[in-house]
Amino acid sequence: MKILWKLKYINVYYIVMVNQLLVTLVNSVLGTGKQTARGNMAYTCPHCNHHKPKLEINFTENKEGHNPWHCWVCDKKGKSILHLLRKAGASQDKITEAKTYVKDVTYTTKEKVVNVLKLPSEYMRLDQSDNNSIIKRHALAYLKRRDISMTDISKYNIGYCEEGLYKNMIILPTYDKDGSINYYTARSFEKDAFVKYRNPQVSRDIIPNEHFINWNLPIILCEGLFDAMAIKRNAIPLLGKNIQSNLMKKIVTSVVDKIYIALDRDAIKQALKFCEKLMAEGKEVYLVDLQDKDPSEMGFKNFTKLIQKTVPLTYYNLMEQKLSI
Ligand SMILES: [Zn+2]
Repeated sequence: MKILWKLKYINVYYIVMVNQLLVTLVNSVLGTGKQTARGNMAYTCPHCNHHKPKLEINFTENKEGHNPWHCWVCDKKGKSILHLLRKAGASQDKITEAKTYVKDVTYTTKEKVVNVLKLPSEYMRLDQSDNNSIIKRHALAYLKRRDISMTDISKYNIGYCEEGLYKNMIILPTYDKDGSINYYTARSFEKDAFVKYRNPQVSRDIIPNEHFINWNLPIILCEGLFDAMAIKRNAIPLLGKNIQSNLMKKIVTSVVDKIYIALDRDAIKQALKFCEKLMAEGKEVYLVDLQDKDPSEMGFKNFTKLIQKTVPLTYYNLMEQKLSI
């Protein structure tokens, strides 16, 4: 009990001490401040130089670890004491010292910059009759060969580009659960394209087209977007052969209990690893034997038949499969 009290005392003392050093430092730059409510101090504002101390600094960190400040006269405000000290012309030594007491918000916010993904500016819809260019007709013919209907084109917002980086490419956007774009893939519809695929430089650790997914029903994991379109119902394309961590987290934490894994035979090793993980999480896993045909080649009817024939994977099957590769 005695030790606990001592620890508590040291903690409190530590917080007070840090604050006091910071206050002394800020006082040395902005002039001695006046104590106000809740551990705040008021200073003459370096922005508007109002004759009264109207700039209030919060010396106790808020939940985000910031020390917000605000001038009641000119309404300048910020989250970082460092910004304020720089503005007030503090020497580099003082800034360096201040950095040992407070977080450098400039740095942390820079780290958190999120790239907002947008469709390429040259993206054009394919489901509108406003233009009937030859390029558009090529794009539509390509999709028709892949068994993508006009309904799919509208449902998935499939577009194409006639110019720019994605010239002569089909654009397949994906959306999150709120319907905001979270990724897109582009693939050429030219016969002998030099670049066949082109993807944006953003994280693939997303759940593609989650707005179409009903987590109360069995889900089907497949490789590509065209596969998901062919499967039609509750299919999540992995955009590759890996279950990315956000998707894995979502599956594990959701109520979905039946998971079909429909990946190429050449990805069997990864597929078995995912089966094992999902089974260990108490999910019922179905490993769909695609027999060298992907769902988009197979088509909806044949794939559905195949799914209906597939039985849940047991640990014994899993071991057999593992031994056979
Ligand atoms: Zn001011």
